[in-house]
Amino acid sequence: MNKRSLSDLPPADLRGRRALVRVDYNVPLDASGAVADANRVEATVPTLRRLLDAGASPVLLSHLGRPKGVPDPRYTLAPVAPVLSRLLGAPVRFVGPADSEEAREASRSLEPGEVLLLENTRFLPGETTNDPALAATLAELGDLFVSDAFGSTHRAHASVVGVASALHPAVAGDLVETELRALAGLVDVPERPFIVAFGGAKIGDKIALMKTFLDRADSVLVGGAMANTFLKAGGSRTGSSLVEDEAVDVAARFLEDSADRIRLPTDVVVGAVDPESKVEPRAVSASDIPDGLAALDIGPETAEAYAWQISKSRTFFWNGPMGLFERDGFGAGTLAVAQAAADATRSGAFTVIGGGDSAAAIRKAGLADAVSHVSTGGGAALEYLAHGTLPGLEALDDS
Ligand code: ADP
Ligand code: MG
Repeated sequence: MNKRSLSDLPPADLRGRRALVRVDYNVPLDASGAVADANRVEATVPTLRRLLDAGASPVLLSHLGRPKGVPDPRYTLAPVAPVLSRLLGAPVRFVGPADSEEAREASRSLEPGEVLLLENTRFLPGETTNDPALAATLAELGDLFVSDAFGSTHRAHASVVGVASALHPAVAGDLVETELRALAGLVDVPERPFIVAFGGAKIGDKIALMKTFLDRADSVLVGGAMANTFLKAGGSRTGSSLVEDEAVDVAARFLEDSADRIRLPTDVVVGAVDPESKVEPRAVSASDIPDGLAALDIGPETAEAYAWQISKSRTFFWNGPMGLFERDGFGAGTLAVAQAAADATRSGAFTVIGGGDSAAAIRKAGLADAVSHVSTGGGAALEYLAHGTLPGLEALDDS
């Protein structure tokens, strides 16, 4: 990495200093408003421990949901404070928002070893427009800036990009470093065979990403709703399957340019689009999807063929579930790919899972710890792989 990181700074430079840390605590909340999944909070513990152990005081900034630049009680970060406190074994004070006198006073009076969590950055006008005045206000809350919100580094917002220009040193935290190291392993000379699996809902969002890997991988396995668009481009009847009509031309071009590397399902599991319908899931040939039914998973023959290729890989990257895995009867293809990724890892392959729903799928399969890396980055990871850089990284100090 050509950017300075927190692990490069001598602990003596951190002692007694306030570290303004941008984290990604955009966590799901349950009906009672409590944190439903603490993965993103847990992912920041290494950076926060490093700061606390060095005698620094972390001041944390994060967004949650998409409030529109004004306070909105549905999106308060208050429920995160007790979760973080439990994980760190340290008191976490919550005040906010970051442009208030209360926040300035709390940050000034912080003692070494204390943690301050500030209210949702998207309550602040100027956050999403990267207002320099807001960035300057944020910069007053710390003596150095640490970027640990890997999942937000693709956003040119004041708490991600602006503040990194206004406060120095501006360095990458442990989570960002770990993520970049894993993703770089896919881009710099991957060991071969290098196999990639793509699924999920949309090609439209992922054209640049697919191009990156069609140029680099030995084989690209396609599943999920994305496969329907490719099947249609190849002239198959797709029934009521989710097809992205505006992407059929791009898919046809990919098929033409990379016919030797793209693999499409030979069979699919079909069902009714309406979840209330009593149609039993069944496997059919991918070239023969019945009218009125939709392809909602890859079929067993395809799952076996993909799993075999994945288990023989030395490098494997996966983005996008193979089917509508959230619904009963359509999760087998996704599970087979997750299991094959775990098998490959056990045989020494380097395996990376990217994308929010894909990460959820591998956790649902109970295999998140059985692969080399599950990115917390969602869209940021995919954008980094597609373009090789991110606005929130560019803004940090060069090493
Ligand atoms: P990620 O978040 O990992 O990048 P996407 O957001 O692209 O993945 O897509 C995930 C969604 O795609 C899932 O919610 C899944 O149910 C849906 N999906 C996958 N295959 C199909 C299909 N055949 N038909 C309809 N939806 C599908
Ligand atoms: Mg998604």
